[in-house]
Amino acid sequence: MTNNPTEFPNMSDNAKGPEDKFCSECSGIIRAKAEICPLCGVRQAPTPGSRTASAPNGKSKIAAGLFALLLGDFGAHKFYLGKPGLGVLYLIFFWTWIPGLIGLIEGIILISMGDEEFIQKYGDV
Ligand SMILES: [Zn+2]
Repeated sequence: MTNNPTEFPNMSDNAKGPEDKFCSECSGIIRAKAEICPLCGVRQAPTPGSRTASAPNGKSKIAAGLFALLLGDFGAHKFYLGKPGLGVLYLIFFWTWIPGLIGLIEGIILISMGDEEFIQKYGDV
């Protein structure tokens, strides 16, 4: 029987790995993706460098806006934004050109809308 030299298995936990960051409050090592520090319970400020134009679910307001502008008559942006019921409504009335007109307006609204507003509205669909 040989002795395994693993007397301190927790030693490696003290090192900051690539997936870790320092807590902004207590400077403890926490997961980089952690929103709230498990050590002191303080919410972490979002890193300024990680600003993205797409929502957590991968939806992009530019893509949604382009869908609305180009294919708004068929409700493409509604399907894209997880509202297939409205999309079908657009499809049914596409021959009236009214959905296309609404899509044009919605496309402009979507593209000119702020990233935060878009994520708030469609980020969790
Ligand atoms: Zn902390």
